Amino acid sequence: MQSKILIVDDEAAVLRSLERLISRAGYQVITASSGAQALALLADNTVQIILSDFRMPLMCGNELLKAVKKHSPQVVGLILSAYADFDAVVESLNSGIAYKFLQKPWTDHLLLAEIQLAELEYKRRAQPDLHTQLLISSQDALLEVDPQGQILRVNAALTKLWQLDGNSLYQQPLVNFLLELPTEQLAQFLIHQQTTLLCLDHQHHEIELSHRSSMPNQLLLKLERLEPLPQFSSDLSNLSNLLNHQQACQLLDRYIAEQRGLTAAAVLDIDNFSLINDALGYYKTDLLINKVANLLQQQLEPGQHLVYLSGDKFALIYSHCADEMAIQLQISESLSVFDNPLMHDDRLVQLNFNLGYAIAPIDTITPEKLLKYANLACRTNRNNQHHFYMRFEQAILDSKKQQFEISNALYSNIDNNGFSLNFQPKISLTDGKIRQAEVLLRWNHPKMGSISPALFIPIAERDGQIIRIGLWVIEQSLSTLADFYHQGLELERLSINVSGRQLQEPGFGAELQQLLSRYQIKPEQIELEVTETYLMEDLQLSYTVLSQLHQIGVRISMDDFGTGYSSLAYLTKLPIDEVKLDRSLITELSSDLQSQGMVRNIIRMAHDLNLVVTAEGIETQEQQQLLKLMDCDLIQGYYYSKPLTKKDFVAMLKQQPFAGE
Ligand code: C2E
Ligand code: CA
Ligand code: CA
Repeated sequence: MQSKILIVDDEAAVLRSLERLISRAGYQVITASSGAQALALLADNTVQIILSDFRMPLMCGNELLKAVKKHSPQVVGLILSAYADFDAVVESLNSGIAYKFLQKPWTDHLLLAEIQLAELEYKRRAQPDLHTQLLISSQDALLEVDPQGQILRVNAALTKLWQLDGNSLYQQPLVNFLLELPTEQLAQFLIHQQTTLLCLDHQHHEIELSHRSSMPNQLLLKLERLEPLPQFSSDLSNLSNLLNHQQACQLLDRYIAEQRGLTAAAVLDIDNFSLINDALGYYKTDLLINKVANLLQQQLEPGQHLVYLSGDKFALIYSHCADEMAIQLQISESLSVFDNPLMHDDRLVQLNFNLGYAIAPIDTITPEKLLKYANLACRTNRNNQHHFYMRFEQAILDSKKQQFEISNALYSNIDNNGFSLNFQPKISLTDGKIRQAEVLLRWNHPKMGSISPALFIPIAERDGQIIRIGLWVIEQSLSTLADFYHQGLELERLSINVSGRQLQEPGFGAELQQLLSRYQIKPEQIELEVTETYLMEDLQLSYTVLSQLHQIGVRISMDDFGTGYSSLAYLTKLPIDEVKLDRSLITELSSDLQSQGMVRNIIRMAHDLNLVVTAEGIETQEQQQLLKLMDCDLIQGYYYSKPLTKKDFVAMLKQQPFAGE
């Protein structure tokens, strides 16, 4: 969508010439000759940007933007003025009323560039924050509270669960909806984000509250009911006849102790259950669950049992099994009744199940754990389209636990404590000098110790925290570079890794530009390393994003070249300045003639395209010599230096010229 821009100026000639310029650039434009007229227009028009004169009779530009901000805080206000006095500029910038002050007379292309930046800023402002996204999209019952426990927002799942509308919850203390809970206990839970809280809600249901995420002054909590709704009408009595979790554990305990063959627990739930629930409503869904229970029960053979866990979740117990194959066979027989659609509420419903299982005594000999592991495998199975049965693996448990812990630790590390930057020199093969360096993030956690970026960056990319962390890396890098220059150290540029998710964030370029000017760093002193895999995912999008960054003047490097598509043809299609050959290409170099030929060709072609070539992961003198013969421009690797702390890197820079070859 093209942005709509409102131009306000009391001089008709100025208004006309701005209108012509901006509408020719492809924007929708509306104009007003006074603040009052602008406000009247805004009542019927939605605009993204306002470009206003400063000095106007009756209402000045500042007052206009102030009035707009009250109703439409996301609209980006630009002030264009020849004689804006200093105090007014400072006031309106500091209070966030105006996004920028621009000078009259203007230069056409610079003004249009500012409008592009304002567009990005608008997109950034209009983007919902993490909590809003979670509240909109999550199927879990979520509520947002302030640190004192006052409810700020809730999602639809929660109002449904509590059968209260949002208005009766907003601004109320959460403790009012929980029974017999000392305020102190709730306060403790809110402070300690790693904890969970078990209590009764106002409907006398047992619930578990846990922390989902936190922002300054806003905590997002997840509320889970521990037991299903007990009110089933008479023909729904079936579920209460089934074994419950506790009885299942007693039974499993007996089977495991008998030591006659294998005992298995399989946990299953209905795939896409929430969709079915939405389509049928609660009551009919409950009937459906009962039907499922009936059908499963009819399939049971001696030594097999059905357990009702909660919601749409069941467990099947198989005893005295010879081997895993026998277990799988029994599972598929149990589920065979669902091979065809079943008739429910006058319609045909095809049910699919997510199923995971665990085996005693192989996976564990504790009944509770057997069920827990089966449940974990069941959840891991959720995204699998092929509906196979998932066996529990210790590795799932370990990696789930670790990912969860790391994600949580990142959330609690909102001040970026424990993060630091390392610098790995990039050496010129022409003169052996350190010309540039790559910035690599390090994280030293007070309890978990040092955690590799290869581990935590992908997690931060998945849960969105990379945006905050990436910005921190950029700011620190720029401030370090500024510091290097103050110390008189010679360094052409720093390379910073950015993840695809950061690049896609609206306003990334604008933010980068602001930081560059704050630290007085020239754009060409920064190179952004973007991975080949990301760039190739959507070539058109990559082109747009990279072109915008290129316009700012920063350099772009294609990182990890050789691990993905590695098509040289793509190099011609994207605005990039450097290719970074991945370590995997270099490792084979000394031993493999074929790979030598390939690397030589890549370098030659890249040079034809005017691209700089850096090779990374150089560990031996031989690799370095080969690359020099091949005309590679820069190298980086342990052979010269591991990534260094700032202090060590500065010491190395001071010893220039470097004593390499
Ligand atoms: P990368 O961008 O490919 O970075 C190069 C990695 O190779 C670094 O690992 C570096 O320490 C290592 N390395 C350098 N020379 C040699 C060598 O001669 N031999 C061997 N075996 N390894 C070498 P590191 O620091 O563990 O970083 C891993 C990855 O984490 C990086 O791979 C990058 O993708 C990501 N990363 C690190 N810092 C950041 C950051 O600030 N932002 C983002 N988005 N990603 C980052
Ligand atoms: Ca890199
Ligand atoms: Ca790399």
